[in-house]
Amino acid sequence: MNDIRDHAVVVRTFKSGESDRVVVLFTKSHGKVRAIAKGVRKPTSKIGSALESTALIDVLMASGRGELQIVRQVSYLDATLTFRGDLDRLHAASALMEVLDALPLENEPAPELFETVVRALRAVANSEFYPDLVPFAFAWRVLEADGVTPIVDHCVNCGATEHLTSFDGAHGGVTCRDCQVGFPVSPEALTLLQRMRLGDLGGVLREERPAGSDEVKRMSREALEGHLGRRLRTFRPPAL
Ligand SMILES: [Zn+2]
Repeated sequence: MNDIRDHAVVVRTFKSGESDRVVVLFTKSHGKVRAIAKGVRKPTSKIGSALESTALIDVLMASGRGELQIVRQVSYLDATLTFRGDLDRLHAASALMEVLDALPLENEPAPELFETVVRALRAVANSEFYPDLVPFAFAWRVLEADGVTPIVDHCVNCGATEHLTSFDGAHGGVTCRDCQVGFPVSPEALTLLQRMRLGDLGGVLREERPAGSDEVKRMSREALEGHLGRRLRTFRPPAL
């Protein structure tokens, strides 16, 4: 592979050797790429701070040996998207990164998903919004993009469009009061989910804990975990 210059989100980082860091990047034009950033854990490093998880960067990488690229230059594309010192926003941004980490995007360009991630990060950073539903809205975008959106406007068993009362991700969506598979969902939750998916996400994010939030979170989490085949730590309420 030749040198790569691309926009990227830093999905995950881990320490390597004395002063290096390996970064998992989701790039706009090359999908997920792993790279080593040499010397960035030294106090004198000029590029270390831009290589923290959730950062949106412009990066230049050179081909290395094996599968690791070598980071040559890094700068912030948007330095306001760092979320330091705001735990709720940092948690929401970290949840987006956990989903990206779980998606199989190695060297597979997904520019539309990249733009969706950037929009989600900007929503998390927007001081007019409560950030905690952003990752759950993002979950539905991922399910839609992968063609596995659960059905939520009619019963997956009998097709009824009224009295929808339950949801089961593995069963493919909602069921009516006669069929009942999964956990109970309220009309408020189904309305909230439709607003989030069909154009009123901005309105939803301006409300603090809108009615049905907890159910929508559970529906989103179960559907996405079922699709990814793994648990999403950041999508669960903190253990007491
Ligand atoms: Zn039914």
